[in-house]
Amino acid sequence: MGFQERPGYCSYCKKNTLIRAQTPNHVLHLILSIVTSGLWLIVWIILSIRVKEWHCGQCGQRILATFGDTAGVIGSHTKKIKECIYCGAKNRLEDYTCMKCRKPLL
Ligand SMILES: [Zn+2]
Ligand SMILES: [Zn+2]
Repeated sequence: MGFQERPGYCSYCKKNTLIRAQTPNHVLHLILSIVTSGLWLIVWIILSIRVKEWHCGQCGQRILATFGDTAGVIGSHTKKIKECIYCGAKNRLEDYTCMKCRKPLL
């Protein structure tokens, strides 16, 4: 079993991090398919199209839905930040004061 890594957002760490998913061992599946004279192909296909389970590379928590393989590049719709006009610090959208300079955010 190998690992696939890509950038993603972890809702537990509340930040963008590397998320991981196990990738199917295609060599193993190929051998099994040959051994079972093609029967294993069905299992292989099911495993391949099944939505991967992504886990946070830092805390190990499962990344919930939304970031399927078809979700595309992560980041474009997760950039909900308020930039502080005083110091330029990036704050969360729900914050009302800058986490760096404590001045009110617009
Ligand atoms: Zn995490
Ligand atoms: Zn600031």
